[in-house]
Amino acid sequence: MQAQDAAPPSLSPPWRSVAAWQEANASIDFHLKRYYSQLKAAMQIARQTRERLESVFPLLDEICRQTCPWCPDPCCLTASPWYDFRDLVFLHLNGLAPPPAQAIDSLKATCRYASLRGCTLPRIARPWICTWYLCPVQSRRLRKAGNGRWGQLGGMLTEIKNSRRQMEDAFIRGIS
Ligand code: SF4
Ligand code: SF4
Repeated sequence: MQAQDAAPPSLSPPWRSVAAWQEANASIDFHLKRYYSQLKAAMQIARQTRERLESVFPLLDEICRQTCPWCPDPCCLTASPWYDFRDLVFLHLNGLAPPPAQAIDSLKATCRYASLRGCTLPRIARPWICTWYLCPVQSRRLRKAGNGRWGQLGGMLTEIKNSRRQMEDAFIRGIS
């Protein structure tokens, strides 16, 4: 998969302190309650986005089972993922509890949700970048399988990317 517009809008993670993280989440929560009736469209798109996301998880689980246990260089230990505004809006609109802190507090930090047995978060609660990113080993494996699933996955990830953008737009319209 290519980066498309998944590149982070800033070069360092927002809400690095726990206080800033909590404030950001409290603010979204406040707006969600305050403008609840104006946010129905955003919630509907968030639900569709969630369904689309969940539809790709079985394939991602399968490809991880085939590759990650033998990986000599696990990506989660060296990646610099973080939650962006869309990730938080997605969680709140779906009624999902945000994790306790931003994934990293500096570009040199290891993701706080990484463990020796992989990610400690459920897939649905991870930053989008963690779902969107397929490492070269996994990409190659899927492409080589030649069963069409590589193309299907790419198409679905593009749909998710677009619906995330629509969800954020609807959220901002709803609170404006
Ligand atoms: S996704 Fe790829 S790089 Fe990351 S742990 Fe699995 S096999 Fe390794
Ligand atoms: S949030 Fe989970 S999947 Fe994403 S980098 Fe951290 S440990 Fe890996």
